Amino acid sequence: MSTPEKATPSHFIRQIIQKDLSEGKNSGQVATRFPPEPNGYLHIGHAKSICLNFGLATEFDGTCNLRFDDTNPEKESEEYINAIKADVEWLGFEWNDDIRYASNYFSKIHEYAVQLIEQGQAYVESLSVDEIREYRGTLTEPGKDSPYRNRSVEENIDLFQRMKAGEFDEGTLVLRAKIDMSSGNINMRDPVIYRIRKVEHHQTGNEWCIYPMYDFTHCISDAIEGITHSVCTLEFEAHRPLYDWVLDSLGTPSHPQQIEFARLNLNYTITSKRKLKQLVDEGVVSGWDDPRMPTVAGLRRRGYSPGSIRNFCEMIGVTKSDGVVDMGMLEFSIRDDLDKSAPRAMCVLRPLKVVIENMEEGAKETLSMSAHPKDESMGSREIHFTREIYIDRDDFAEVPPPKYKRLIEGGEVRLRGCYVIKCQEIIKDADGNIIELRCTRDIDTLGKKPEGRKVKGVVHWVSAETCVDAEIRMYDRLFTAENPDSNKDGRTLLDVINPESLTVFHNCKAESGLVGAVVGKPYQFEREGYFVLDSDAHKSKNLVFNRTVTLRDSWTKIAPK
Ligand code: ATP
Ligand code: MG
Repeated sequence: MSTPEKATPSHFIRQIIQKDLSEGKNSGQVATRFPPEPNGYLHIGHAKSICLNFGLATEFDGTCNLRFDDTNPEKESEEYINAIKADVEWLGFEWNDDIRYASNYFSKIHEYAVQLIEQGQAYVESLSVDEIREYRGTLTEPGKDSPYRNRSVEENIDLFQRMKAGEFDEGTLVLRAKIDMSSGNINMRDPVIYRIRKVEHHQTGNEWCIYPMYDFTHCISDAIEGITHSVCTLEFEAHRPLYDWVLDSLGTPSHPQQIEFARLNLNYTITSKRKLKQLVDEGVVSGWDDPRMPTVAGLRRRGYSPGSIRNFCEMIGVTKSDGVVDMGMLEFSIRDDLDKSAPRAMCVLRPLKVVIENMEEGAKETLSMSAHPKDESMGSREIHFTREIYIDRDDFAEVPPPKYKRLIEGGEVRLRGCYVIKCQEIIKDADGNIIELRCTRDIDTLGKKPEGRKVKGVVHWVSAETCVDAEIRMYDRLFTAENPDSNKDGRTLLDVINPESLTVFHNCKAESGLVGAVVGKPYQFEREGYFVLDSDAHKSKNLVFNRTVTLRDSWTKIAPK
């Protein structure tokens, strides 16, 4: 089977780069970077940025650096660093050379701060945090100059040196760029560029007690690495003048171009590390890789393939205007992938025992079924037909609704890939619960239509003798609201958690071949959806499968508006 080549839709960032290359800018080089802050796991929004940055580098024969933007040591950790590296690799991308850390450049960034002071373009501020805010003004009113704005270069150098030496407490002094307190752009009203934080850093230990702010760090890191196109999300548009001011003022050897694009927003979920962390911390989910999380780790555990995520990112495109993408598109992209790649298997979620009375005890027939009805190259699998089998409770009805096509007392149904059976008798326990069906098979119906009658229903089944026990986790969307984050009527994220986002079936029966299931290899369980072995399955004595996605989209029609 071949998939038609998908035409890659062009977008404005690609066009900017093509133009730069045609004009010989940056000596014909393209160097991008993906700069996560290691304060959480990557989510689907980051995947968009990863696909864009690494994708552009590949397309233009350039390089893409992975750089940890690690200027907030108290929120960051090695766990997050490792998770982010694993996620980028899993998505199928390779970073240029070694991993970078903004903290690698702390000395250089500090030198640049001293240079700004010497140039009379930075000063040490003694106002408190609240006073700084007060002096900053508002969107409609200009700010006021701080009384400390005109400290001499010598005094600033001395104070900054003593800040670095640890002489002052956190929150007492900061270093600010001296730009323009009446600028229409609040980011240009003497932004703070260094602050005191007496905390250990995961990379630099206790070497520093002052840390540069994001806006000062990011542009310098880009310049040090010789990034040509510094691609970021739209909220940084208003920071671009500061980005350029810092690099122009310092006269850095290179001056990357910042380009902004619209971040990915997906309905029925959230893409904010801080809020995802809240779900983890409050135990709403089992961890960052809970299969309901929109994190790369969660999607992987849920059974998403890297290719499906890359396709999704390609499909949604890159624009300059904010919008909300329908979750159905992400689900479409994995369904599309799994329909082609997932071999079929049978697993009974709500087992009901069926005894085939006209089959000898101990007899076992081995049947061959194709692994994929539309792809012969995937080969076949063996399944066993025995006197005792399981079908799903939902495939039998004592009092059938109208037009019911599955099994009823005295009725017939086809077992998928096997015989037509007829229900002769219902066996109940003392409380009146159905515990078993007594059936007979029509021996002339293997691979053949039954004589003289039509049997419409086909159900999945497994041999009670050779099946394996399994636990099945069915997932649905984590939130019931289209925009969980809207805070409408004072509701919070926790108020719109979907109580049915996880349903566990404990006593499932899977066909014997599934003992060989491995993490990451998808299956389509006939009539139930696409599934993958859970990565924590080894901790359980039974097989544990996660449902990646349903066979069809059931949300578009019934989703609450
Ligand atoms: P969050 O708000 O979730 O913490 P962030 O932007 O603070 O996100 P970073 O670690 O700073 O997270 O992001 C690394 C890169 O990923 C940045 O270039 C950022 O612009 C990009 N990015 C983050 N969220 C999205 C998103 N939803 N869509 C596209 N790109 C994103
Ligand atoms: Mg950030």
